[in-house]
Amino acid sequence: MKYALVTGGSRGIGRAVCVKLAEQGYHILINYKSNDAEAAKTAELVRGKNVTAETLKFDVGNKTDVDTVLGGWVEGNKDKVIEVLVNNAGIREDALMIWMTDQQWKNVLGSSLDAFYYVTRQVINGMLANKYGRIVSVVSLSGLKGMPGQTNYSAAKAGVIGATKALAQEVARRGVTVNAVAPGFIKTDMTQDLNEAELKALVPMKRFGEPEEVADAVVFLASMKASYITGNVISINGGLYS
Ligand code: NAP
Repeated sequence: MKYALVTGGSRGIGRAVCVKLAEQGYHILINYKSNDAEAAKTAELVRGKNVTAETLKFDVGNKTDVDTVLGGWVEGNKDKVIEVLVNNAGIREDALMIWMTDQQWKNVLGSSLDAFYYVTRQVINGMLANKYGRIVSVVSLSGLKGMPGQTNYSAAKAGVIGATKALAQEVARRGVTVNAVAPGFIKTDMTQDLNEAELKALVPMKRFGEPEEVADAVVFLASMKASYITGNVISINGGLYS
């Protein structure tokens, strides 16, 4: 049985990715941190595509949590193979550098950059043994361009881009590709507090993107069709920056 693991699959972009990977026939492991009701909703949507869905509740930025819950799943399911990993979980805790707290720095770096290391490490061995794997991380325009008020978030996402490029070269010969997508403004809970009317004027397409528009690019990179693409970042931002 072929599995795809999507971190932060309970809501937003992660949910859209879960549903679209399910449409490709993958059984879906839905990771989330705390929102049981939304995770259950994603699982229901996935099962509607005639594949199985399993929710895995753990904090991607907490090594013990990842090793116990995800490591436990991998250990207990040796007959199953995680072919696709989507490192999507992430948070924003914006503040100007002069006002930033240690906790804001750590929380944001933890949920993106530490998480890339903790989670990927649990599934990469299986992919290498299987001589096939797809790792796609959801980064951000902020990680390419740098955004004021987001030194933590920009650093976290830029870090994942660097790790993506390095790991891609380490595993390229073994049929494993490692790529990232960098969204601009996408309509999810994460951007609910932003002034959409004002910000969309900055976007050449004059609108925010939909989670499904990000998910389509993730699913392409996660497919066999993207077999000669690795160490790359695809921007999905309505022309905001390239
Ligand atoms: P969202 O709607 O706020 O959803 C965030 C998801 O991540 C939820 O499923 C949440 O789980 C999960 N999560 C957060 N911290 C976690 C942790 N420590 N451990 C496990 N799961 C965790 O966000 P989104 O907009 O879909 O964002 C998804 C990704 O896209 C993020 O990496 C974000 O940085 C990136 N991105 C978003 C935008 C945008 O405009 N929306 C732009 C660029 C990049 P719970 O439901 O349990 O809280």
